[in-house]
Amino acid sequence: MDRVIKNPVRGNRDTNSHMHSGSAADSAWSDGSNYSPPAIDAKTITLPALNALYQTHRSFTQLRQTRQGLWLAALVYLLFGVADAFLLPDVAVQTVTARLIAAILAISVMEVCVARRVGLHWVDLSCAATVVVGYVAWLIPATYTTAEDAFRYYMLFGTIFMMSANLFFNLVFRLSVMTSATILVIFLYSMLHAPALSLEQTVVVILFYASCFLFTSYVNWKLNEERYNVFLNAVEAAHQHSEAEKRGEALERLSNTDYLTGMENRRAVDKRLRDYWNDWQSEGKAFAAILVDVDFFKKYNDFYGHQAGDRCLILVASVLNDTLKPLNASVGRYGGEEFIVLSRVTGRDQVMALCEIIRSAVEGLHLVHDQRRDGQAVVTVSVGASYTRPQSGPKLERIINEADRALYSAKANGRNCIRLFNPNDPLTSDDNENIAATLRMAVKNDLVHLVYQPIQNLRTGRVEAVESLMRMKMVDGTPLSPAQFIPVAERTGAILDLGLWAIRRACTEVLATGIAPMASVNVSAIQLKSRGFALAVSTILEETGVSGSQLAFEITEGIDMEGQSDVIRCITDLQALGIRIWLDDFGTGFAGLSWLRLFPFDTVKIDRSFLQDARRPAGRAMLEDIIRLIRNRGLKILIEGLETADHVELMHELGIELGQGYYLGRPVPIDEVKIKSFPRLASVSGL
Ligand code: C2E
Ligand code: CA
Ligand code: CA
Repeated sequence: MDRVIKNPVRGNRDTNSHMHSGSAADSAWSDGSNYSPPAIDAKTITLPALNALYQTHRSFTQLRQTRQGLWLAALVYLLFGVADAFLLPDVAVQTVTARLIAAILAISVMEVCVARRVGLHWVDLSCAATVVVGYVAWLIPATYTTAEDAFRYYMLFGTIFMMSANLFFNLVFRLSVMTSATILVIFLYSMLHAPALSLEQTVVVILFYASCFLFTSYVNWKLNEERYNVFLNAVEAAHQHSEAEKRGEALERLSNTDYLTGMENRRAVDKRLRDYWNDWQSEGKAFAAILVDVDFFKKYNDFYGHQAGDRCLILVASVLNDTLKPLNASVGRYGGEEFIVLSRVTGRDQVMALCEIIRSAVEGLHLVHDQRRDGQAVVTVSVGASYTRPQSGPKLERIINEADRALYSAKANGRNCIRLFNPNDPLTSDDNENIAATLRMAVKNDLVHLVYQPIQNLRTGRVEAVESLMRMKMVDGTPLSPAQFIPVAERTGAILDLGLWAIRRACTEVLATGIAPMASVNVSAIQLKSRGFALAVSTILEETGVSGSQLAFEITEGIDMEGQSDVIRCITDLQALGIRIWLDDFGTGFAGLSWLRLFPFDTVKIDRSFLQDARRPAGRAMLEDIIRLIRNRGLKILIEGLETADHVELMHELGIELGQGYYLGRPVPIDEVKIKSFPRLASVSGL
């Protein structure tokens, strides 16, 4: 900026002396009071453009001043008529008349210029002419005076006209110098006709006029240069201001945009959400918050690569944009593979309809994703939504929390589905907040303990192992069932520490003490996926002096674990420690059979629902099929949920060896394990 703009003035000081162009000056007639220099592009500005800009700028500031100055000058000029009457009484009538005519003429011309909106250069010209005419109009009659002495002194006042041209009126430099030079010439010419002066007097007067001409011209030149510099500084300041504004706008845009998808990012969405919320609070305008999460995205990324993953997110983002724009809903990226939609729809049905539109739009993309093995082979999304209700409460976070829980519930229900927040759904209930908080301090505050349920050999009646099951209570003592706190622990990650705690506790309580020959511990998929899990387990074994072969881990079929090499590696490591891997709740999930193929399980626990169904012939046939299938794979079978003698009888009929259930023994705390629950334990463990 500096270089480009300042060079013209340094390199061409005459710039401001150019006669200005009509087009620049024409704009002078708009209201100049609000004028500020326009911002210009420093990279492309040229010298002529800058000069034109200067003239425009000058016009705005100049016009009013010239007009006002002329009126003032005319008034003073007329008042000097009094001096004429006093100093040159014999020609006073003529000089005053001449003054009057010149003043009226000058003002008329000026007002005509203003009325006809002529360019500023015409105004300047008429102003310059006025100065010359004013001088001549006085000078001619004055030279005829008989008051010669007075005239000799009085004529020195002619320099005032030079001063007006150079300093009083802000004319362009060249014009003002020409004007004052004209006055000088007229003066010199008048010397021929004026009352005779002595040589000394002539020299003094000419010197005075000449030095006045030079001095005022010089000051005028300086002033003009200064004005031009002020203008350049103003232009530069305006330019910088506009640059800063542009940069600010770009920054603002950048900070609100998601770099990958180009849609609003979390920051912008949060702001929008606050606006929606404020409208709801102040005007009762309801809205829905909808969270959209791409199913099995990690798998997609792992298999197809990150670039494909990014492309997938971009495609999902754009289909969401295209689908939702016409529906007047706003959509942004909420993080990772999660998007958020805000819409002014109200009522359950409308929200559900919108969710379904979103879900089917993504499904309709037909983006291949054949790594998910849940029967789908395309990219889909799970959708969780909540909307403002009278009970929404005063907190903005709550609606997002609710949508988040609904999303979780959608994920838990097999994905590619939509869920609306339901306060009665345990997976989405408000208590989860408290549970999550309690979980964080559960171990330290002694809020968790293990109970043990016997696993019996149905042929010998011996207790072969115990299953350890976690129990937890709230700070106020309220007991919680694992069905309530395990999902929350898995979701918050608390299961990692809690799970290791359970393994250590089972080792110290029943294995290191020899109370049971073997103990099984339930292990979540998340634990198997966590780094260093096998290592942590081996440390526990070492520290408690328990052999790995005394431990079994019960794993529930989890679709998330499919095809995950880190899970397979972890299981292999655990097996290397001698730990048995049991497949829990067999038959409840859809991936059960492929699971059997994937992992070398030791024992399969058939879910108790099959036992209940076995009362009907079809149910019994099903159970027999399953048993045959597992046996064919050479795995041991354990049936859980034996609640009656009939159940045990059925097991005998089916030749099942291992059983577990309330009929054989309920889960009990460690103290009760010792004394009454497992009477045969002593003989089994050889104590
Ligand atoms: P699970 O592994 O299938 O555990 C067996 C559940 O069935 C236990 O419920 C047990 O009390 C119950 N049960 C045992 N015998 C019978 C019976 O004859 N009839 C009926 N109706 N139920 C019976 P619990 O203790 O409420 O545990 C529920 C689930 O919580 C467990 O299912 C397991 O998946 C999970 N869980 C419990 N403790 C842990 C743990 O330490 N870690 C992990 N990751 N999950 C755990
Ligand atoms: Ca279990
Ligand atoms: Ca089970």
